[in-house]
Amino acid sequence: MHELSVTESMLGVVLRHAEANKATEVTAINMVLGDMSTVMEDSVRFYFEIIGKGTIAEGAKLNFKRVKLIARCPVCGKEFEVVEYNFRCPDCEGVESEIISGREFQVESIEIN
Ligand SMILES: [Zn+2]
Repeated sequence: MHELSVTESMLGVVLRHAEANKATEVTAINMVLGDMSTVMEDSVRFYFEIIGKGTIAEGAKLNFKRVKLIARCPVCGKEFEVVEYNFRCPDCEGVESEIISGREFQVESIEIN
């Protein structure tokens, strides 16, 4: 039920912004989703359809922008894209890399009427 709670908080953010802007309808929700986020796009769509019903966001188009998984090597400072869960630094072969993007799940913007 992980996606249900993230979808609820996403909808909460959307409705707060929509109300603050005196919207009567939310037509689209643009989200950023990291490649390594545990959130599944299809589940968010599924839950959104259920919990969005009866709100001004009902029927809004959900757009997901995927963010690549990027790590930084603490030894040499190199930032690199992680492919197939290979976290080894391509420059110095260090294995202590830290993830700097790719885990996000957030609302980037909304379109309203
Ligand atoms: Zn390195």
